Amino acid sequence: MAESRKNIILTGDRPTGRLHIGHYVGSIKRRVALQNSGEFDDIFILIADAQALTDNAGNPQKIRDNIVNVALDYLSCGLDPKKTTICIQSELPALPELAFYYMNLVTTARLERNPTVKSEIKMRGYDDGSDTNNNTQGIPVGFYTYPISQAADITAFKANCVPVGDDQLPMLEQCKEIVHKFNQTYGDVLVDPKILLNENETCRRLPGTDGKAKMSKSLGNCIYLSDTKEDLHKRVMSMYTDPDHINIQDPGKVEGNAVFTYLTAFANDEHFAKYLPEYKNLDEMKEHYQRGGLGDVKCKKFLEKVLNEELDPIRERRAYWSQHIPEVYEILRNGTEKARLVTDETLREVKSAMMINYFDDDALISDWTEQAGN
Ligand code: ATP
Ligand code: MG
Repeated sequence: MAESRKNIILTGDRPTGRLHIGHYVGSIKRRVALQNSGEFDDIFILIADAQALTDNAGNPQKIRDNIVNVALDYLSCGLDPKKTTICIQSELPALPELAFYYMNLVTTARLERNPTVKSEIKMRGYDDGSDTNNNTQGIPVGFYTYPISQAADITAFKANCVPVGDDQLPMLEQCKEIVHKFNQTYGDVLVDPKILLNENETCRRLPGTDGKAKMSKSLGNCIYLSDTKEDLHKRVMSMYTDPDHINIQDPGKVEGNAVFTYLTAFANDEHFAKYLPEYKNLDEMKEHYQRGGLGDVKCKKFLEKVLNEELDPIRERRAYWSQHIPEVYEILRNGTEKARLVTDETLREVKSAMMINYFDDDALISDWTEQAGN
């Protein structure tokens, strides 16, 4: 296996909407910490517009608009363009070319086994009612093959570390298989990537405000990083709790209760000391809720304060960057140029290993010349 000579991170997001607190705890907060740790030689963040088009082909305007939204979200969260390279997928021609070659290393049966793709097919309503092939017949080919294109993204940067949410596990598995197969077949070129998941399990897949399994742009159950204080207030107050907890005295359930799930992801003991000193920590608060006697509104007000504390510095940076959009474009342009050099170089190595580097290979002419006895 090709050893990564460097510590390189690749991760990214689809520009299908503004980013939400699920992205934040699942991946972005970690990216900022890794960026500031100084342990990495390079950090690349890919705005995956080409991937977003695989299931949004009819809506190019949405993708275009969200490039800037996502870039603003990154900068607002504290990603620093001096330390982190932000780039745009469709501007990197090496990526689809790599994906095209990797397609020969993956079977359709393997693609159909991918549990994330299966659930996304259902969620997007592609299910065409046919009883063959997991109902994959109604989905666009580009969407069906996106795990391969994602393997191209990761390997093109020679990333050895990929910090993401747990819906990405099957993608990383697929990527690793491609790396192994490629290196076995053509020689040691590609780097085997490791997934980096949040230690806090709740953060790996934050549920929606409706209590559904995953907060997702496509499900409209999000708290956005760009929400104002007023937006946040409305979203928290209408949040799903325990439907059987009707009177304050009723015992309440914390499992599947969105308010407690978010507190698990965001609240720490200092928050209690500052905003709710009658409890030392979340365990004590949970116990009271379960026993009965603690109302939803009080819990929600506490959560609102905790979330505002996290979102306030993000709002402040956004206020600056949204007044400097030409600078944001420049950051994207420069980042994409740097990414182009890196990914082009990987493509050159891949083509050389696959022996399709005809015009770079002088030996090809000399071998023929020798054979012809010249
Ligand atoms: P879409 O609905 O368009 O697929 P999405 O909300 O699922 O959007 P992506 O752009 O697909 O977002 O995901 C970007 C990154 O954020 C991935 O690393 C993914 O694992 C992570 N992520 C997305 N949603 C969550 C969530 N609810 N909890 C934790 N991590 C998440
Ligand atoms: Mg997704």
